[in-house]
Amino acid sequence: MKTICIFCGSSPGRMPEYVEAGRQLGCLIAKRKLSLVYGGTNVGIMGQIADEVLKNRGSVIGVITEHLKEKNIAHPGLSELRVTDTMQERKALMDELSDGFIALPGGLGTLEEFAEMLTLAQLGLHRKPCGILNACGYYDKLIDFMDYAVSQGFLKDVHRSMILIDEDPEALLNKFENYKAPLADKWVDR
Ligand code: AMP
Repeated sequence: MKTICIFCGSSPGRMPEYVEAGRQLGCLIAKRKLSLVYGGTNVGIMGQIADEVLKNRGSVIGVITEHLKEKNIAHPGLSELRVTDTMQERKALMDELSDGFIALPGGLGTLEEFAEMLTLAQLGLHRKPCGILNACGYYDKLIDFMDYAVSQGFLKDVHRSMILIDEDPEALLNKFENYKAPLADKWVDR
């Protein structure tokens, strides 16, 4: 694993612990000599993670749309900034550049991006690890919902178990390093 993609809030959230969790993860990414791929802005948790990776001499690739760049929120100090025409192309490029995906606290943008990577994984279209950094239990209700989806027959256990979860950034990265995708594409074992 060389490159980790992070999806997270373009806002900082109400509790400082959310940003702090992002900073801790950014620091570990740099120390493990991984590159960060993220949405390329200097706002919210996103900007703070990028700053922390750069501060620790890590490499950061931002992927932003022309539309967001025109709003003057592109981070000015990244190792590389890639610009796409659409949000769909942006996500596809983030997927192409990355060996794994982590969701930190965030809103609809974060959920949408992370859900797409999980959907591609359960279809067997990639075999990269996908995980949640559950800072301060922010995603507890989403995790409960995933278990409910399993109990109601809409999500298979094997696909639920593909979602790596931890409150601790170091423990989560260790799970990523040890991850082996199950051989259970959504449509092959019906
Ligand atoms: P959200 O979780 O709704 O704050 O959205 C953040 C995620 O969606 C990031 O991973 C970005 O890639 C994307 N995104 C959505 N809206 C914005 C925005 N205004 N600025 C930067 N990124 C955004």
